[in-house]
Amino acid sequence: MPDQMKYIDEFRNRDIVKGLVKKINEISHSKVSLMEVCGGHTWAIQKFGIPSMLPSEINLLSGPGCPVCVTGRGFIDRIVAFSRQENVIIATFGDLVRVPGSSSSLEKEKSRGADVRIVYSILDAITIASQNPRKKVVFPGIGFETTAPGTAAGIIYARKKGTGNFFVLSSHKVMPPAMALLIDEGVKIDGYIAPGHVSTITGSGIYSDIPEKFGVGCVISGFEPVDILQSIYMLLRQINEKRFSVEIQYKRVVRPEGNIKALQTMEEVFSIRDDWWRGFGIIPGSGLGIREEYGIFDAEKMIDAEVEETVEDKGCICGEILKGLKKPHDCKLFGNVCTTENPVGSCMVSHEGACNAYYRFNR
Ligand code: SF4
Repeated sequence: MPDQMKYIDEFRNRDIVKGLVKKINEISHSKVSLMEVCGGHTWAIQKFGIPSMLPSEINLLSGPGCPVCVTGRGFIDRIVAFSRQENVIIATFGDLVRVPGSSSSLEKEKSRGADVRIVYSILDAITIASQNPRKKVVFPGIGFETTAPGTAAGIIYARKKGTGNFFVLSSHKVMPPAMALLIDEGVKIDGYIAPGHVSTITGSGIYSDIPEKFGVGCVISGFEPVDILQSIYMLLRQINEKRFSVEIQYKRVVRPEGNIKALQTMEEVFSIRDDWWRGFGIIPGSGLGIREEYGIFDAEKMIDAEVEETVEDKGCICGEILKGLKKPHDCKLFGNVCTTENPVGSCMVSHEGACNAYYRFNR
């Protein structure tokens, strides 16, 4: 059996899954709400039908784990404004082009003639900049600690190469302040299924405040059914024993110390700043801005643009979904006006968004 098939067999094994469901049922004594804060978990939980396997006492919530979803309309409006300039090329990952801004999107601007190109890495964007020395090439940097090191490495590379017409508009974010804010604001969360990809970079220490300050456990989870069910079981044990800590279920990938090289690269280029999150507003210390030393690559500072006033969509409840206050089925537009083919809000655009995952697997 090829290695990949063996891997899938191990972590999707029906007997192991059944055994874990039985163990969860045995120790599930009271109503609990567990939140995942990773788009990959949102997708996997719905795809594998995890909620349908659990006792009714366990309520699974999707939090602010989808990078595209938490990115504000103001950011999209700024990128759209850049794209309207004659001498600008936008080089972006594909999932951002359909995200609606206040009155437009990159997809719409492209159809009107803007130079918007899909890239698969920041290096592609730097190559486009080298090939078009008379143009300004802007790369929208979104995502959490998972993608920020890649953006940082790209900026360092552009400096080494002397690519002066390459710019990044950063909306990179860090996860722990949003997790703390949700509990602080009174959202009922009894445990966090903590993000596997973010933690691969950061290690487990970044969540230590959550059990210490708030008495809420965190289990860093993998993405297969066995991983997620085992993480839920570990959280229930913490809750039952009132022993709250950060545990790593995803040990085959996540180390307590994280990826030191990636952390150093991120630290070299970015510094912590306040940032705006959809549904939350400004969260202190939750964003990554480009340091002064790398300021010549910062699109925010280097490119002027007339950005329209940001207008939120009134019918879309993405913000409440990202805070775990509502679920996609609570939205009147879900599945009729708003679909994956015709998304109204960012939670339906990205395949990591809760609305998108519910639409595909749990309509
Ligand atoms: Fe927004 Fe569409 Fe989700 Fe409703 S279904 S919350 S409109 S993304």
